[in-house]
Amino acid sequence: LEAASSLVEDHVKTQVKGEDFPFTETENVEAALSIIVVGASGDLARKKIFPALFALFYEDRLPQNFTVFGYARTEMSDEELRNMISETLTCRVEKRDNCDEKMDQFLRRCFYHSGQYSSKEHFLELDNKLKQAEGGRQGNRLFYLSIPPSMFVDVVRCSQCCTSEYGWKRVIVEKPFGNDSKSSSELTRGLKQYLTEDQIFRIDHHLGEELVENLLVLRFSNIVFEPLWSRNYIRNVQLIFSEDFGIEGRGRYFDNYGIIRDIIQNHLLHVLALFAMETPVSLDAEDIRNEKVKVLRSIRQPRLDDLVVGQYKGFREGNTSSPGYTDDPRVSKDSLTPTFAAATLFINNARWDGVPFLMLAGKALHTKRVEIRVQFRHVPGNLYNRKFGTDLDKATNELVIREQPDEAIYLKINGKVPGLGMRIDCGDLNLLFKSRYPREVPDAYERLLLDAIKGERRLFIRSDELDATWALFAPLLEELEEKKVVPELYRYGSRGPVGVHYLAARHNVYFR
Ligand code: NDP
Repeated sequence: LEAASSLVEDHVKTQVKGEDFPFTETENVEAALSIIVVGASGDLARKKIFPALFALFYEDRLPQNFTVFGYARTEMSDEELRNMISETLTCRVEKRDNCDEKMDQFLRRCFYHSGQYSSKEHFLELDNKLKQAEGGRQGNRLFYLSIPPSMFVDVVRCSQCCTSEYGWKRVIVEKPFGNDSKSSSELTRGLKQYLTEDQIFRIDHHLGEELVENLLVLRFSNIVFEPLWSRNYIRNVQLIFSEDFGIEGRGRYFDNYGIIRDIIQNHLLHVLALFAMETPVSLDAEDIRNEKVKVLRSIRQPRLDDLVVGQYKGFREGNTSSPGYTDDPRVSKDSLTPTFAAATLFINNARWDGVPFLMLAGKALHTKRVEIRVQFRHVPGNLYNRKFGTDLDKATNELVIREQPDEAIYLKINGKVPGLGMRIDCGDLNLLFKSRYPREVPDAYERLLLDAIKGERRLFIRSDELDATWALFAPLLEELEEKKVVPELYRYGSRGPVGVHYLAARHNVYFR
């Protein structure tokens, strides 16, 4: 730890700050930042959290006096932790020259303390190490609870001693945030015995992706979209989250939650809320979250016939084969857990009355696709339909905001095909991010970790947002489970259940 203090001194001398360095001089130099990864021996910590912290360090986005502490029950020395995390640390862009040197500097700031999650004594020992690393500076402490949610309350209770007198303390908690309204409220109540709402950062890493931030920029910094953003011009909105792989070893977790809890009830609903909310008073987290809650509370309760559920099945053809969902040894053979779900929601307010929002999420589908598709209404009395008999109604304008497979925003517009005749074609005005911005895109965990360090809560979920999302989906989930609704089977790598096309057609949604 003493060595870490001298390292800090060296770093202070050599660090060159970029223009958008996010900390004030005081935060950067006078305070110390300790990031405590609870559950450091786990999968998420190794694959995502430590690499994201390294990337922030590499990009000079962390305050100068920072240290990282791993905490878990597994016995490990500091050196063993460093060996473990060095296996997954890579520079985002491999060609960078000083990567090894930076990695070494980063690893020397990583420490480990082994302890039980419900032991005040063990957290007191951790506190002593934190104080030593902070070297008498104001100690800001960020805890990342990368452990099963059943341990969250124990950890915040026992780590109460780990609060430095002058610094802040923030706690990131990983989803799932409960299994239904009741368990979610119990978790919130448990956390709030020891923390204020401001200290709790509920993370859904998908909200840290570029699409989410871009959606707000697109809506509120362009004159051309916001005037069209209502039932007057928009016919339907599709929010699509499809993955081309199955559960891949996460059977135990997934079978308890299913795709509705995993993606629709939390992630897609938040994207929908950002899409449909009224203009917030400002970009402050509370202003945005206030608007999100309003729109979430205006959504009509979805019913069973607004929903299609599916489950992927395996197949074998010649030398190729893919496993079905229930082939996973941790999933029971008669599991009814959906790996695919599509739901149509309606917002009962003046802006969105009657506009279907089709949310779709699925695993083991034919493509990896994360996007928002906005289909606009037909041109009333279209002159070209009348004069040339073209059926332009099939090709209405469509705006696509895409995260996967590659980031893009494009607008489908009708234009004339060059030539002497009059042929109309639907083409794209295309902003392909990798052509326009060749710089690599940070991982969602990087953005969210940096936000938590800065105290920026915009992309984290407030407890009333969580309550509003559960209020919408908990009754539906209960009904699904009570009635033992059998999901429609679809082939691994296919387009998903046929039922989704009937659901889309019922609401006049042109769905590909
Ligand atoms: P792990 O199952 O790997 O658990 C993390 C650590 O928690 C383990 O190394 C173990 O540490 C401790 N632990 C595990 N089970 C128990 C238990 N029953 N009681 C007490 N401690 C336990 O989880 P992940 O790292 O994969 O994920 C961490 C959290 O993040 C979970 O809540 C998960 O749902 C969530 N999450 C994970 C994602 C992922 O991609 N992995 C994605 C999104 C969310 P030790 O034994 O050393 O104490």
